Amino acid sequence: MGDRAMDVICEIGEMKAQRANWSRPIGLVPTMGCLHDGHVALVRRAREETATVIVTIFVNPTQFGPSEDFGRYPRTLERDLELLQAEGTDVVFVPSASEMYPEEFSSWVEVEDVTSRFEGESRPRHFRGVATVCNKLFNIVGADRAYFGQKDAQQVAVIKRMIQDLNMNLDVVVIPTVREPDGLAMSSRNSYLGPSERAAATVLYRALRVARDMHGQGCCDAAVVARSMRESVAEEQLAQLDYAAVVDPLSFHELESIECPALAIVAVRIGATRLIDNMLLNDE
Ligand code: AMP
Repeated sequence: MGDRAMDVICEIGEMKAQRANWSRPIGLVPTMGCLHDGHVALVRRAREETATVIVTIFVNPTQFGPSEDFGRYPRTLERDLELLQAEGTDVVFVPSASEMYPEEFSSWVEVEDVTSRFEGESRPRHFRGVATVCNKLFNIVGADRAYFGQKDAQQVAVIKRMIQDLNMNLDVVVIPTVREPDGLAMSSRNSYLGPSERAAATVLYRALRVARDMHGQGCCDAAVVARSMRESVAEEQLAQLDYAAVVDPLSFHELESIECPALAIVAVRIGATRLIDNMLLNDE
């Protein structure tokens, strides 16, 4: 690993021109950069399973709301490229926003229902931006498989829905959430946290463990579990709850009874930083 040449491509036309040279299957790992071990897990899985590994780095402006962190989102391209080279990536695609969204751009992918709750409610238009950019990247790359993290579980549900509804020809591979030793899910946004906020951020994992423990002890009432998650978040003074719930992992409809499969989800604001996490309750 790490000794083959890695192409860095910035133009859509160049990607399309190169496509005929890539061996199949082609694995695509879409990212916004500032790579961490969660991203690395996706790249490694793609490297194991596909002949050509393509990673995209694009801080997609259309998935950020006007008051969100697009401007200050961390950008660490040089370091990201070194890391991707070491992981044996074949191609890194780093498009410009002006080429992805030229002035005349007017086509959007709207996935309904699953986007209407939780992240979709807290971040209007977020999933429209995600679905549209993923659709564009799938078309530009011609990928056979796309790798996504369980960390963004509702994003996975939206992408799966889009692929099924629009008869798109690629498979989604979902990689388990990679965590810090204290349970905090790795995220590029963790870099925003000051020391006391970083300590407080473990509250998401604690709330999810409460849910899993309660279910492990036989509690199947989703409302009771969700209430305990909220109480757990309330114990952390620096944390402000956005939502905590138990949902169906494909539809994101809230469950009444925790039957297989059930996903506990939580979103919390810590200072100016918004963090999300989730845990399957009927996993190992
Ligand atoms: P991002 O750069 O945050 O857009 O993330 C790019 C991909 O990496 C998405 O599919 C994320 O779900 C995934 N990802 C982010 N954090 C983690 C993590 N801690 N563990 C596993 N996958 C992750």
